[in-house]
Amino acid sequence: MSGTVVEQAYEAVIGIECHVELKTVTKMFCGCRNEFGGDPDTQVCPVCLALPGALPVPNRVAVEHVVRAGLALGAVIPPFSKFDRKNYFYPDMPKNYQISQYDMPLVSGGVVRFRRDDGSEGSCRLTRIHLEEDTGKSTHMGSGDGRIAGSTHSLVDFNRAGVPLMEVVSEPELRSAEDAVAFLEYLRLTFLYLGISDVKMEEGSLRCDANVSIRPVGSTEFGAKTEIKNMNSFRSVGRAIESEIERQRNVIAAGGRVPQETRGWDEANGVTHSMRSKEQAHDYRYFPDPDLVPLTLAATWVDELRHGIGLVPIVAYERLEHACALAPAQLRQLLGDPALARFLLATVELHPDDGAFAQAAANWLLGDVLRILNERGTSIGAQSTLTPRTLAECAELAMGGAITSKTAKELLERVMSEGGSPKEIVQREGLAQLSDPAAVAQIVAQVISANAKSVADFQAGKENAIKALVGQVMKVSKGKANPQLAESLLRERLKQT
Ligand code: ADP
Ligand code: ZN
Ligand code: MG
Repeated sequence: MSGTVVEQAYEAVIGIECHVELKTVTKMFCGCRNEFGGDPDTQVCPVCLALPGALPVPNRVAVEHVVRAGLALGAVIPPFSKFDRKNYFYPDMPKNYQISQYDMPLVSGGVVRFRRDDGSEGSCRLTRIHLEEDTGKSTHMGSGDGRIAGSTHSLVDFNRAGVPLMEVVSEPELRSAEDAVAFLEYLRLTFLYLGISDVKMEEGSLRCDANVSIRPVGSTEFGAKTEIKNMNSFRSVGRAIESEIERQRNVIAAGGRVPQETRGWDEANGVTHSMRSKEQAHDYRYFPDPDLVPLTLAATWVDELRHGIGLVPIVAYERLEHACALAPAQLRQLLGDPALARFLLATVELHPDDGAFAQAAANWLLGDVLRILNERGTSIGAQSTLTPRTLAECAELAMGGAITSKTAKELLERVMSEGGSPKEIVQREGLAQLSDPAAVAQIVAQVISANAKSVADFQAGKENAIKALVGQVMKVSKGKANPQLAESLLRERLKQT
């Protein structure tokens, strides 16, 4: 009997592991400086080089950063936590074990809420966030993989060994490459807003691995996953996940099975390749680090940190979306600079529930303010002359028609150089827009008698000539005449003659 083969639909299951180097003055367990760059092996000491007898002391600020990350993501902070040794050999890890956290991490649960490019909402829960130390860094010289003596070799730099590293592990709840990238973007923004890391993927202060499996739609069980490494931008993460989903679909369509393994991303060829079979937790022989006492976090300290969390990006997005009608791309641009998002929120909060004002303030900020900042090679956070109050005044003056848009732009340039109150400047210097019909009519009459050529052109049907005449009115009034009023008065007069 011949039957039709019904093609089985598969869905992707994705979980993310993300490592974030924390911004601290010193390393995780010693007093060495935590600084990117610097000559190799200049930021080292007996503790981070694991010399015999040296004892680690935890960095309080690093613990604080991880707890704040957890709180910002709505996680539970257990009162008790401990450090464990994760045993494995790595040429750039002097201890031959890594101090990490196994069964009692600092942070448990939490959720990352995110927005996709089209503005739609998504979320993914977190399993845990724990604190560990980074390894040193190997550099492979010459061709090949550095294994052949004489022709190639590898160098190791221990400056990074012992730098505080936070690991965030998500639940396998993401279902597309797009969602995985949006998840990572909001995670990155959250740490940026908290100020706990530089989160620069190009410098390695944010690194992530993607775990990918596929399963028949409707199935409640997970398929075997592969873990993808070596992606160095969010764009690569998206491409790597898509390519891996496609590869697994093909393996299964051809009747094969996907083995659990670690795969590397090949950016140039756009494919993943097998690196090694995956280790299991028991391979690491975790045990509590006997050099470190467990951490007991006082509830009052955690509450204090909770109160100091401040604005988080997803909330900034929601407030801005509520206040003004901005496109998702504009909201994304605002969110990307915490100082810019905070500035706009502080501005719109000066007139709550005034949509037109909020929109005007947003247009000013994303338009002229950003243009001027770019011209001056600075950013909103680095300048101090423009404040939410004075931006609001510019927007109010222009909206109410008190000044022309030309005057408004000049005023903004000035306030961004010298500071001061735009309203006071307008009053003091008589910059107010000329909207008195009698006064504008007088200038219009003057312009008509002095520009016979343009008048004749207009009356001969050259519609464009009106622009030249309005321009003359603006010139005579030193930019203060209301241009709409000038144009309507001109048209009225020229019809009569
Ligand atoms: P491992 O022991 O291999 O490190 P974990 O259970 O610690 O696996 O999970 C590591 C990451 O892989 C987590 O982000 C988790 O959500 C994700 N993950 C687990 N199982 C799957 C699966 N079947 N498909 C995709 N991702 C998965
Ligand atoms: Zn050190
Ligand atoms: Mg794991």
